[in-house]
This record gives sequence, structure tokens and C-alpha cells, in this order.
Amino acid sequence: MKRSFIKSFFPLLTLIVIIAVISSIVGKKGSAIKRTRFLMGTIVEITVFNSGKEPGIQEAIEGAFREIKRLEDMFGRRQSGSDVWKVNHSFGKDVKVSSETMDLIRAGLYFSKLSGGAFDITVGRLMELWNFEGDRRVPPSAPEIKNALSMSGSNNMLIDAEKNVISADNGVHLDLGGIAKGYIIDLAAAKLLERGIKNFIINAGGDMVIWGRKGNRAWKIGLQNPRDSQKIMAHMEVDEAHTAIVTSGDYERFFIHDGVRYHHIIDPSSGYPARGLISVTITAEDAKTADALSTAVFVLGVEKGLKLIDSLEGVEGMLVDEAQKIHLSKGIKEKVVVL
Ligand code: AMP
Ligand code: MG
Repeated sequence: MKRSFIKSFFPLLTLIVIIAVISSIVGKKGSAIKRTRFLMGTIVEITVFNSGKEPGIQEAIEGAFREIKRLEDMFGRRQSGSDVWKVNHSFGKDVKVSSETMDLIRAGLYFSKLSGGAFDITVGRLMELWNFEGDRRVPPSAPEIKNALSMSGSNNMLIDAEKNVISADNGVHLDLGGIAKGYIIDLAAAKLLERGIKNFIINAGGDMVIWGRKGNRAWKIGLQNPRDSQKIMAHMEVDEAHTAIVTSGDYERFFIHDGVRYHHIIDPSSGYPARGLISVTITAEDAKTADALSTAVFVLGVEKGLKLIDSLEGVEGMLVDEAQKIHLSKGIKEKVVVL
């Protein structure tokens, strides 16, 4: 069955939400305002806490949803007319993009460098070939993969950051799907903060930004089993003033062929889905960082992934491997209760 949102470059509606805020979200009557909208291929829920009767909250939430829509239309690989679409249809010519797109591409290139190429915003051709949003049910042939691989690589992205001009050489196509959702919810959070809203959660299908508090309690976060959404594998308390939590998993977009799962996180060194992990949850100060790193660590695997996380200030991770064993970064070993 075709769904209208398959045009989106974001994951299909994730039925399993990996991370759940266990603390009851809506407190006493009147203390929380919650609104949901279908955006970015998922259900986006904005909840404002401790709001009392402050006027304008509803309007501020609407503003945040509008911001998400505006940016979604800018970054989608499959949205015709988006900045990314223009770059991918430019045949190497210069394309003028928005300052947000330039910002996001620069961030993408930064995380690419940081992860030694595991994170790669130039996987556009490979994603088109694998076509997880579409009808593919059999992996592509080796020559097809080789061909798509030959048209990837960050060194083919030429940017003029002052003029906001991009060009992609050698047939390279962009795909910002590994970082855009995080970046977008950060900017949606900024819209709420601008309006003086201090205590809120934006939850986009399990990818979240959390600001402030509900009452005086710390947030209790549960890690659901990637293979059984009814089971919580671990939980932890989050008491930072603000934090972002993003999960990458092999269950978001995939098909199974001959008993093998082929999913949407591609190892740029092979052109095939990354193996070893089934989910990676990252906490960081902002969702852009958490989003890029969840994808990068998924590709890097347990050993290299944890090494990268442990080298970064303010970043922690919970990794689940194929045997469903949990691996924790140094900074949260004490905080997480594995069930
Ligand atoms: P996420 O769910 O954040 O891990 O993002 C997965 C999406 O990122 C995919 O649907 C692709 O659009 C894109 N992607 C796939 N492989 C990579 C990669 N190695 N680096 C960056 N983005 C990727
Ligand atoms: Mg990501």
C-alpha cells in the first residue's frame, strides 16, 4: 500500500518508539498542554509543562510546527523543489541554497570528518538505489552498488559558505536524512524558547529534545527493546537542564530477503547496510549532534562507536548489538539500570 508520506526522506512512521519518557508526561490537570502533528514522516508531539494559564502557548506550539514544516520542505531528498532536490538535479552546477541548508551541510561534513567517513551526507545515490521507501524487496546487484559508491564521497561536495552556494561533483547526490530531523527539532525548540517557554518536550517519533522540568522531578527515560516494543531493556534518569535523545535503528525502514534484514543505515565503505548493531541511542546537548552521532555510531559498531562517544564532551550512548546486549558509554554506566 502506498502512503502519501513515502515522498518524505524521513523514516516511515516508526511503530516502535524506542525511547519513552516513563515519568507520566501529563501531570495535574491544566499543568501540561500537548499537541501532535504528522510531520517528517512521523508523529511529532509537543508538550509544554508547568504552563499554568500563560496565554500564547498554543500559538507558540503552532509556530514550532510551522518551523518544522518549513525546514522539512527545504531538506527532503524526495521533495521536489527542496534545496537538496535542486543540488541533486543540478548536474554539478552551482546551486544557491538557504542559510539553514548551508548550515546543515556544513554540520554534515563536520560529522563525516569526526567519524572518519562513517557518517556521510553523500550517500544519496546509494539511498536512491536501495530505495527503502519504495518497492525494493531484493538487494541491488554488486555492480549497481559499485556504481552508486563511485558517485559518493564528501570530497565531491564543494561549498561556498559565504555565498551559500553548493555544487556536487562526479554525479554525487546529497542525503541529509541522517541529521535533518535532529536539526529541525532543535530549531523548533528555539521557536518555543524565543516565546519564553522553558519546560517542554518535542518528541518526533522517539527523537526528542527535553527542556526544563515537569515540577521538580528528573526525567526517567526508558530504552525499549528494538525487537519488542512492549519490553523496556533499561532506564536512566536525565537531570540536565536540557538534553536531546535520538535513536537510530535497523527496524525503521527495511526489508528481509532470504532471512537477511536489509535496512536504511548504509555503511559508506561498502554500500551495504551496516552490520553489528540493531539500535543506537545518543544523548547530547542538541539533537543535531545526537542525530548525526546515532547514525555514525550505528555504522562504526560497538568498539569504534564507543571510542568516538567517549572522546566527546556531553555525549553519551546506549548501543544494542545483534545479540541484544547493551553497551554503554563511560559517562552513563553508573546512571543506567539494565533490566
Ligand atoms: P537515522 O535514522 O538518523 O539513522 O538516519 C537514517 C537515514 O540517514 C537514512 O534513511 C538515509 O537517509 C541517511 N543515511 C543512511 N546511511 C547514512 C550514513 N552512513 N551517513 C549519513 N546518513 C546516512
Ligand atoms: Mg541520525
